[in-house]
Amino acid sequence: MGGSTPARRRNRTEPGNKGPGAVCAACTGSTHRRWQGRKWKKSLRGRGVQPRPLAWRKEQPHLQKNGQNEERKSRLLACAKQNRAGCGRLLPLRLAAAAVLAAALLALFGCSAKETEVSETFFVMDTVASLRLIGDKEQAESLLEQAAALAQELEARWSRTLPDSSIDRLNAGETVVLDQETAALLAQAAALSVETGGAFTPTVSPLVELWNIGEADSPPSREEIAALLPLPSPDFLAQARAGQPFSLPEGCRLDLGGVAKGEAANRICVLLRESSLRGALLVLGGQVSCVGTRADGEPWRIALRDPDGQQGETLAELRLTDLHIATSGDYERYLDFEGVRYCHILDPETGWPPETDLRSVTVVSSDGARADGLSTALFVMGLEPSLAFWREAGDFEAVFVTSDRRVIATEGLADCLSFSNGAGGYRFEFTA
Ligand code: ADP
Ligand code: MG
Repeated sequence: MGGSTPARRRNRTEPGNKGPGAVCAACTGSTHRRWQGRKWKKSLRGRGVQPRPLAWRKEQPHLQKNGQNEERKSRLLACAKQNRAGCGRLLPLRLAAAAVLAAALLALFGCSAKETEVSETFFVMDTVASLRLIGDKEQAESLLEQAAALAQELEARWSRTLPDSSIDRLNAGETVVLDQETAALLAQAAALSVETGGAFTPTVSPLVELWNIGEADSPPSREEIAALLPLPSPDFLAQARAGQPFSLPEGCRLDLGGVAKGEAANRICVLLRESSLRGALLVLGGQVSCVGTRADGEPWRIALRDPDGQQGETLAELRLTDLHIATSGDYERYLDFEGVRYCHILDPETGWPPETDLRSVTVVSSDGARADGLSTALFVMGLEPSLAFWREAGDFEAVFVTSDRRVIATEGLADCLSFSNGAGGYRFEFTA
């Protein structure tokens, strides 16, 4: 992990450069430099007018209105039962080996006879989570419980909607003594906001509440949106310190929905890495984290879903170890109203879903919160500003699915990504 030469500069066909090791080098290491966000800001400035829905949004053949939260929860869980990770935007592929083959692989890779796979699917952070652990049965079962409990505990601190969470109390105007994890997450959210020129803005909560995607039957009025703008700057979050009392400026409310799952994944992976497990795969909605390897010693395989396809239709497959993968898109949570799709990610500058040329953004990083926050921010920015950001940052890799049916992967993924060529009329390319 963390080689000095970014893998994106490597020759894609270089012998000996295959496999997950190369990816690890690609996605970690170098200290990121700050993106000034000039191009992005410039493209927004002077727009002045309310963004119009993109034409492609009107052409969606399967327009459907989002259901209520409870319906969504049971749909997601039912779907997860069919395909353990089938509802995520990234679909971890099932082990294809039959029992006989598994026995042969065990012998081949020298797994202990005690080694087994333990898995669980549960609902947390308003999404379906699943965890697969490979290792000693007793240890894996205990870690499964600890990981699920940790996810619930972090949700109880960072949820905007759970009563008495730290965020709920801050949003209600209370002064809260911050725990170490919350203080660190607030500071990271502030830094991400600066770095992305405001595309990621954790003070977006009033807009998220107003839009209420998933519950609302129609979009809010222009007047209601305009009344909430401009959003308060999140810069003050940089002053968050563990053990210190903290409160929000007047009129400011937080929503950590764009980073909380990623940071929960970070914390759970720390727990898993401290163990002697062979490997683990954690799925938290659109966030997938892999630790170590599969039972057969191979990297984990993570498939990228076709935004227009059925659950099982994929555009590409990543083979990774010890990395976090986050996807943001317009096809998981949205409101379809009068032929227009409004997704749950909002442009903090306009107050509307972004006028983006992207359907989804997948970010691969050694930091789960960074992957999570960046996938949200890059979705807002659109393709070209995102690619400029990626070139400048140098510490993550990405896959973009555009509304004109292109799948563009950054070249640091060349050794660990296979495109599903021919799928869904898409064109596939790596970019430098
Ligand atoms: P998901 O949470 O569905 O995995 P994302 O990681 O992209 O998807 O986060 C979207 C969530 O982040 C929204 O539901 C909302 O709570 C919050 N959010 C929406 N727009 C922004 C934004 N521009 N900056 C920061 N957070 C946002
Ligand atoms: Mg996110």
